[in-house]
Amino acid sequence: MPLPGRFLTSVLVRRDGDLFLFDAGEGTQVSMKMLNLRWKKISAIFISHMHADHVTGLPGILMLSSQVDRTEPLYIFGPQKLGEYIESSRRILDMYINYEIRFIPAETGIIYSGEGFTVQAFPLQHTKPCFGYSLVEERRKGEFFPGKAEALGVPRGKLWGQLQSGESVTLEDGRVIESAMVMGESRDGRKLSYVTDSLYFPEIADYVHDSDLLFCEGMFEKGLRDTAREKKHMTAYEAAMIARDSNSLKLCLQHYSPRYSDRELRVLEKEAREIFPATVLTKDRMTFDIPLKD
Ligand SMILES: [Zn+2]
Ligand SMILES: [Zn+2]
Repeated sequence: MPLPGRFLTSVLVRRDGDLFLFDAGEGTQVSMKMLNLRWKKISAIFISHMHADHVTGLPGILMLSSQVDRTEPLYIFGPQKLGEYIESSRRILDMYINYEIRFIPAETGIIYSGEGFTVQAFPLQHTKPCFGYSLVEERRKGEFFPGKAEALGVPRGKLWGQLQSGESVTLEDGRVIESAMVMGESRDGRKLSYVTDSLYFPEIADYVHDSDLLFCEGMFEKGLRDTAREKKHMTAYEAAMIARDSNSLKLCLQHYSPRYSDRELRVLEKEAREIFPATVLTKDRMTFDIPLKD
């Protein structure tokens, strides 16, 4: 539940010109306003499951999105029932929406793609159908070494461009220069994963493998593992096991039980850090950069 000073779980991702939103609990738009983002258009929204703490902020976000002109549709992904929720909210609340909403039921695998990236969904185990998501960038081209091109006698200009885009070129003297002769190895893209509302099971680590940033619920302390299992949630320690086993770089804990005061949350952080030191206890409107590799 929302607490004074602690809103519900939601992650906003900005990548190039796109904004993506993962879950939209009550009041998400308030938090977005507080961030004072010059945000305009969300390209796609990914909803984990149909529990109120993850979706009641959605109608507000949809209305807010009508304040800007857009020609592109807004894509929304989530469990089947989400489509009904959006439709009935629109109808019953007479919501003014000036753009097209495309709801697509989530299923395991790649569900969305854009320039240089995909979003993949995977099943979690909760009291209702629930999905986790990873935003995965394609590998980036290697670095271009102008010195090598010069040494090989490739004249600056069009041929350099062709080499940089991966083509091979033929020089006037008949020599063929391959792109790989002047380009470095391709580089890893970045990956962000979003996991919330699930009991712990080891396969989650496979889905989120090698995430640069892993957002994962850490609802309870270790001693409440049975309670967590019963409610189909996980402990912060289990989240850290996923971070460790998935070879992720950083764990951002989220979705805490309201039983913990801000000070008591330190226990969750401490327990997670026992096995995964790069753990951060997220707070409202905290921001993270994911730097490009190399
Ligand atoms: Zn739930
Ligand atoms: Zn929840």
